[in-house]
Amino acid sequence: MTRSHRPRPGSRSGGPPRGGGPRRHDAPPPSGIRGDGDELGSRLHGLDGASYGAYKGLAGHWAMDGFELEIRKVQSDPFAPPSRLRVTVPADTAGLPAELYRTPVRARALGGFLLRALRDALRGGPVHVDAGGQEVLDRSAIRIARDGDAAGTVTVELGAPLPGHGRRIAGHAAARTLASELPDAVHAALTWKHVDQDAATAFVETVEDSAALREALPGRGLVAFVADGAVLPRASGVDDRVLRGGVPFSSPPSLRVTLPVPNRGEVSGMGVPEGVTLIVGGGYHGKSTLLRALETGVYDHVPGDGRELVVARPGAVSVRAEDERAVQRVDVRAFVSGLPSGKPTEDFSTESASGSTSQAASTIEALESGADVLLIDEDTSATNVMIRDARMRELIEAEPLVPFVDRVRPLHRGHGVSTVLVMGGSGDYLDRADTVILLQDYRVSDVTARAREIAGVAPEDGDAEFPAFGRRVFDPDSVDPEVRGRRKVTARGRGRLTFGGDDVDLSAVSQLADPSQTTGVGLALAHLALDGVTLAEALDRLDADVARGGAAAIAHGSLADFAVPRRHEVAAALNRLRSARVTGHRRPDPPAG
Ligand code: ADP
Ligand code: MG
Repeated sequence: MTRSHRPRPGSRSGGPPRGGGPRRHDAPPPSGIRGDGDELGSRLHGLDGASYGAYKGLAGHWAMDGFELEIRKVQSDPFAPPSRLRVTVPADTAGLPAELYRTPVRARALGGFLLRALRDALRGGPVHVDAGGQEVLDRSAIRIARDGDAAGTVTVELGAPLPGHGRRIAGHAAARTLASELPDAVHAALTWKHVDQDAATAFVETVEDSAALREALPGRGLVAFVADGAVLPRASGVDDRVLRGGVPFSSPPSLRVTLPVPNRGEVSGMGVPEGVTLIVGGGYHGKSTLLRALETGVYDHVPGDGRELVVARPGAVSVRAEDERAVQRVDVRAFVSGLPSGKPTEDFSTESASGSTSQAASTIEALESGADVLLIDEDTSATNVMIRDARMRELIEAEPLVPFVDRVRPLHRGHGVSTVLVMGGSGDYLDRADTVILLQDYRVSDVTARAREIAGVAPEDGDAEFPAFGRRVFDPDSVDPEVRGRRKVTARGRGRLTFGGDDVDLSAVSQLADPSQTTGVGLALAHLALDGVTLAEALDRLDADVARGGAAAIAHGSLADFAVPRRHEVAAALNRLRSARVTGHRRPDPPAG
């Protein structure tokens, strides 16, 4: 967990300063430059021992050596969330080669590199920058201007807990941090002549290759790609870095494809075709690890991650059972034909879903948000929504659940939605799969032909259609980030979001990358224009706004660090927001094909 996202008990800076500060307002808007770095340093030394609130008098712009420091928001006491700083390095000083930020993908990658370099340079000190983990996301913490006069200007957002002795200013420590350590780190990490230029270039090129691979997938009829040599397992359950000594991936010859990429020339590896793909194998042979790599393949990864050339389509969505989640008027007829309680299945709501109904609802919700690939693991699935063997079909006639196994092919044929499924414990999918991948001792082979022999038939689409489902329209007033006129959007770790008066449990939303992205989900949710349109249409607008304006499009003045989320995680949060109300359904377009 990053420092800026630790849980903060109690109110933020809503009340009067508890430290006896002089005024309850932040400093007035800056007018020009307050002084240079020496001046800032001597002011801080001079404030040593003064009451904590006197820090507020430093808000504004300072002309440091080679960059501008803006003290944007000063915390009201030493225990409040860190003060917010902005550093702007002009293009001339930063000296970044235009080549490395020429496209949006390159700018995101170079920004990701610079943030990590800055984090390293600040290590050991109190100033925090939201650099992220293994995924290279579009983050609010850095902007590299791409065009106009300002092209090449770097702007970075930081958090700095201003030091105090009790409620008195620790001025000498503050001077060391702001007037010495911070400038040193900025010079070391954000000026091209000081950065590790080869590493920066390699970082940008790796991310660009990854993005190019992802973009190439649909044209090749693939839903995912795993490069030969990739290392998929992680160091541990709490350490997302590569497992040293992990067995490198090697594609079975029958599934090997070679894709061109802009920097490396070409990359070969396993292409996962559209349709139904089954991953089988004994327990502990690496099935879930492969699926997990596909889940995070919707993002680009840092060089050295092991999965930097493992990609999945942007619309690949992981679906799992999540009992006790709330469900808001989801049309689950595709999987539930009737419930003992007489609850309507075309308009299914519950405050506490079962394992199977939660998975059925999450599947429809994923389709509603525009998923074109479903990723499902037996480890996190409700068996009775996945399979029903022949004996059980005979024994239980009054089973209201239609298992996914009966829907997986119609789903592809009718809606163009592919499925990649881990299922080592049952043979039910053998005659439904277009491709069967076996994992043994972490090594992959293509056993499709052998699976056909065992099943005795080739997969057949049959006549059954995947039932149409209604698209929901939400009441915009029920999705309210404000409490008594103040916006409250705060991530509490990766899996929990405070949104207005609600606490949203996102722990089962496994493709959220980090706590900052959870904050981004909250901001995107607050940004959604839900009035009179279906959720899918509102998500389309969100995507368009972000494509145009980047992270800033959803910030709405927030000072919090955040990363841009996918539409699917935004929808997942709305679907788990207990205050959200659905006002009705749009009847669906008839399935294509
Ligand atoms: P399964 O889902 O088949 O039961 P997992 O994917 O959970 O297996 O993997 C079991 C263990 O093996 C995990 O600890 C995982 O980190 C490790 N593992 C997975 N793939 C590899 C690999 N390629 N090299 C080394 N260890 C691996
Ligand atoms: Mg597993």
